[in-house]
Amino acid sequence: MTNDKQLLLTDELLLDYKRCRRRAFLDIYGDPSEQEQPQDFLLKLRQDSLAHKKAVLALAPHQKPNYPDRDWKAGAQATWNLMQQGTERISQGVLLTKTVEGETLVSFPDLLVKQPGRSIFGDWLYVPTKIKLGKRPKPEYKIIAAFCTQILAVVQRIWPTTAWLILRNQKVHAVNLDIWIPVMQKLVGECLRTLQQQQEPEVFISRQKCGLCQWYSSCHAIAKSQKHLSLLPGVTPRRYQDLQSLGLTTVESIAAASVTTLESVLSDKIAADLLQQAQATAQNRAILRHHYYPNPKNFQFLNNFPDIREIAASGENLLPSTPNPDINFLPTADVEIYFDIEAEPSLKLDYLLGVLVVERHSNTETFYPLLAEQPIAEESIWQQFLDLVWLYPDAPIFHFASYEVEALKRLAKLYHTPSQLMQPLLPRLIDVHQQVINTVTLPVESYSLKNLARWLGFEWRDRDISGSQCVCLYSQWLETGNRSLLEIIRRYNEDDCRATYRLKQWLVDFYRVGD
Ligand code: SF4
Repeated sequence: MTNDKQLLLTDELLLDYKRCRRRAFLDIYGDPSEQEQPQDFLLKLRQDSLAHKKAVLALAPHQKPNYPDRDWKAGAQATWNLMQQGTERISQGVLLTKTVEGETLVSFPDLLVKQPGRSIFGDWLYVPTKIKLGKRPKPEYKIIAAFCTQILAVVQRIWPTTAWLILRNQKVHAVNLDIWIPVMQKLVGECLRTLQQQQEPEVFISRQKCGLCQWYSSCHAIAKSQKHLSLLPGVTPRRYQDLQSLGLTTVESIAAASVTTLESVLSDKIAADLLQQAQATAQNRAILRHHYYPNPKNFQFLNNFPDIREIAASGENLLPSTPNPDINFLPTADVEIYFDIEAEPSLKLDYLLGVLVVERHSNTETFYPLLAEQPIAEESIWQQFLDLVWLYPDAPIFHFASYEVEALKRLAKLYHTPSQLMQPLLPRLIDVHQQVINTVTLPVESYSLKNLARWLGFEWRDRDISGSQCVCLYSQWLETGNRSLLEIIRRYNEDDCRATYRLKQWLVDFYRVGD
């Protein structure tokens, strides 16, 4: 798009800008061939969101404007006609206005509800409602509701007193326009300026915002080629700016910096962690994480220890450290259990409890996929899980990250599991992810199971399947009864258990040999 072309700012584009400036820019100026197909999980979210809107709209009669697909001008005219006729409830209308600079602003209220008051139409006006699938009224929802309200105010020549959000479970939330209109106006101003300037915003990879983005492959490839600092775990946008202010723009420059230099912009612990992360990445090797003393500069009582004072003053790379006591925390047992869950969050269901039993004396590894083919079977697989893990009362149960612990507590509560079965189970659970984080720094882009296990050379049998895709596959299984989908999920879950096993084994060996 060139400057002489008119800019069209929609709800969706503004939302993309809020998530990532680059994303909004690419949505307009990017090469569509570099955009990936939406992931199955994203498609499922969209489908769920649409179903939620339909369910809410079905609660009361409403009228929908009639217009050709994606013809927003015609849509705005058809919506205006319904408003002028005094239609009580208008669903999926189009609101459109132009800024003084000629940019077009378009919003899509899910509902416009007629209320008493004076507007261009007569003694009635409209109040906008956005229907969202989230449980909480997130800031982004409020900004979009405020955007919709502002355009509606121009169209009907009067401000509505509020805007509404209808959330999951029909929860209704009033948006405080006094707060959110100025926030939205600032964002719209910035967004229009960025898009008019046509200057491509810098890439910045962040797991949270980039996860479902369709530009991820192209952005990640650029970040890789630039060795961008956002690929270094621990570098947030704020810390990135701080590092730039010190002239530290490469992994190597951070790795060679002194911890005192980093501490001039970062807290002690973050500085030490980031230095070690940069060293692990620059040297492409695992480093045992040390426990650092706090910087003596900041602790008056340590000034009694001249050797520490001297090291701090000398700006040495590393502060004195102690061996990490957490390395003694990882047991090796004759029987070990590796455990991973597949869940369907929208059904609040843990439908696959995967258990890999490793018996060293017989050199056997047996995988038990405890699968609820229908949601109703969750209680039954929970009971099977308890029976299985209590066959080996001394076996530690290894899992990756915190979800499994939370899920076990939920299942125990839901199915009234006696505390004598549940309480002794909890101390047997060992989080391998936490163990990695506490004890070792690795040359990886993130500490996800996929990244860690792949760094060790482990590969999943289905390379392109992810946990979120399994959510979609299970939904499809429930709809279609296609058993091959269950087999993919089962395989993925087993590989997650085996990846956790591989990681745990590697940790034990690494602690023994050291870095
Ligand atoms: S992948 Fe990340 S950096 Fe790239 S456009 Fe998407 S959100 Fe922005």
